[in-house]
Amino acid sequence: MTDFSMELNEDQTTLQDWVHGFSENVIRPAAHEWDEREETPWPIIEEAAKIGIYSLDFMANAVADPTGLSMMIALEELAWGDAGICMALMGTTLGVAAIMANGTPEQQMEWIPQCFGTPDDIKIAAFAVTEPDAGSDVSSLRTRAVYDAATDEWVLNGTKTWITNGGIANVHVIVASVDPELGSRGQASFVVPEGTKGIRMGQKFQKMGIRASHTAEVVLEDCRVPGSCLLGGKDKLDEKLARVREGKKASSQAAMATFESTRPAVGAQALGIARAAYEYSLEYAKERKQFGRAIIENQAIAFKLADMKTHIDAARLLVWRASWMAAARKPFLNGEGSMSKLYAGETAVRVTEEAIQILGGYGYVRDYPVERWHRDSKIYTIFEGTSEIQRLIISRAISGVHIR
Ligand SMILES: Cc1cc2nc3c(=O)[nH]c(=O)nc-3n(C[C@H](O)[C@H](O)[C@H](O)COP(=O)(O)OP(=O)(O)OC[C@H]3O[C@@H](n4cnc5c(N)ncnc54)[C@H](O)[C@@H]3O)c2cc1C
Repeated sequence: MTDFSMELNEDQTTLQDWVHGFSENVIRPAAHEWDEREETPWPIIEEAAKIGIYSLDFMANAVADPTGLSMMIALEELAWGDAGICMALMGTTLGVAAIMANGTPEQQMEWIPQCFGTPDDIKIAAFAVTEPDAGSDVSSLRTRAVYDAATDEWVLNGTKTWITNGGIANVHVIVASVDPELGSRGQASFVVPEGTKGIRMGQKFQKMGIRASHTAEVVLEDCRVPGSCLLGGKDKLDEKLARVREGKKASSQAAMATFESTRPAVGAQALGIARAAYEYSLEYAKERKQFGRAIIENQAIAFKLADMKTHIDAARLLVWRASWMAAARKPFLNGEGSMSKLYAGETAVRVTEEAIQILGGYGYVRDYPVERWHRDSKIYTIFEGTSEIQRLIISRAISGVHIR
């Protein structure tokens, strides 16, 4: 049996140092500018692609770490630099994860490289599930996919909302209903390649935080894609639908399991923001003097920092545990993936709020990064399953009761 260790191995510390260096030297100095511009930070993505951080190889190597920790370490460091830019770099992986989870090996080989492109010809991807009337309740999607046997094409119609990279992505993965009566069991995922007619960006949203990440509606109007764009293929879909119609269990539980295993990655980003705010406010509290002494000499401030650090370390342990479990293919019997995202997201909100308090008025103005970190942190209690939905998953898992 391998000895248990809490120490990162050499590969992991090398990765951590490398990504941290990029984050410190390239991302953080640009964070304020791209937050104000509210645009995709293409020059930063280009730099990340040049050194290999925005690439298929980077993602594949990080995901291949059998301990599950490499991706978590990289995401924490990137979000430490700036969560909006981190999301601009990592939004593509949402589409990639959907292709990995649902595509045949041939589809994975065909589409995943096209999600990243090359440093000279960068591509991005998007994953579109949410709709105006279907947020937490993904079983009620209205976007329809209808098969046209005459042309062997699928015809997509509907509107997706709040989509990261929506409408500007080169590859969109769209989740649509093929049989609305079957709810989430009657849904399938489709790749919409670049240049397809009938897909366009709707409203682009102006957000509270992570403003360097593009979020928009995606409108599908008689959008036709070849039959080969149905992830998993038609035979598998037909088999699944037949099983569901006979009242047998289908594999939508497998999709939920995939979500569970990607949640630690979201938690890792929240952790990066929390750590940035903690480190900044710790230094500030040592330097800022009031009543003739550093404000950290007051327990009221020092205890805040003690709590912040404790919550951050606890969140990291939950994130690493869940990611290790996912890599080791251990079942999340108690909703451990949800626990990691829930706790890290709420920690980021709490820690960044305390950081503002420690900085006082300086925490509240845009000349200092702390107010931005607080705005950025809030999304981590909302997307990829709200905190309430995470609690629902955990409470159902631990009780076996169908809590509502
Ligand atoms: C910046 C941003 C980026 C996003 N990126 C993507 C993306 O790339 N792709 C994508 O598909 N989606 C994306 N989303 C959508 C995101 O996942 C949804 O916003 C989220 O799932 C919540 O859905 P909703 O906003 O419709 O809220 P609702 O589901 O309407 O929830 C509203 C409130 O009700 C609560 N609630 C709902 N149901 C229950 C229940 N059963 N029990 C208890 N409380 C409940 C929720 O927790 C929440 O507090 C993004 C959203 C944002 C803001």
